[in-house]
Amino acid sequence: MGLKLLCVIAHPDDECFAFGGALALAADAGVLVHIVCLTSGQAGSYRGGAQSAEELGALRRAEFADSCAVLGVPHHEVWDYQDGQLEFAAFSAVAARLVAKIRALKPNVVLTFAADGALNTHADHTMVSAFTCAAYHWAASPKRFPDAGPLYHADRLFLQTSSYFIEGRPAPMPAPWTVTLDIRSVMQRKHEAFCRHTTQAPLVEQTAAMFAEFGHDEHYLLAAARDPQPARQTASLFDGLEP
Ligand SMILES: [Zn+2]
Repeated sequence: MGLKLLCVIAHPDDECFAFGGALALAADAGVLVHIVCLTSGQAGSYRGGAQSAEELGALRRAEFADSCAVLGVPHHEVWDYQDGQLEFAAFSAVAARLVAKIRALKPNVVLTFAADGALNTHADHTMVSAFTCAAYHWAASPKRFPDAGPLYHADRLFLQTSSYFIEGRPAPMPAPWTVTLDIRSVMQRKHEAFCRHTTQAPLVEQTAAMFAEFGHDEHYLLAAARDPQPARQTASLFDGLEP
């Protein structure tokens, strides 16, 4: 059995916009990659002609599946939370679902946003970070959700961060990084995956110059691990991990 990665996101397009390089590199290396997306993105500003939230959600679910195929990620699911409202979701219930997912899937690496909300400081991204950080630790805790499957200690938790900002937008306060991933070998696929989000075409256009200038690497913070260790700079999410 090989290495496994679980990535938890808020919206269809997060998987490519924020994590595309890491996910494509992991898939290419034979890692089993699984993405959980908490909403269908039904409240998106760009609506691609959709007449209702339901219609937009359905379009974006399909775009997400197409994007995952481009990235090489066969395992993905969209949950049923309301886009733009994750701060009002029942914290413990969402965390419990993620705990059950972690205990069932048994990933080596869990990947999500940092608390800043990423480049666009979206509150949903901050909430996904909070849910997933709690679930990472609670999956290993005998005191939490004893009915949600046998305890599981995932090896590493990484949070997505950035070395640059989007021009003209309020800047996040990004976490420092411990991982710099050189994603040049999969940059084109990351872009193609983003382009599969046809309802979000204006966003792809707006960010094209930014990604051309800065998009050759992605940055992550090692936020938790099974063994005590000093922070150090690495070039992989998986170095030293055995399947
Ligand atoms: Zn998002």
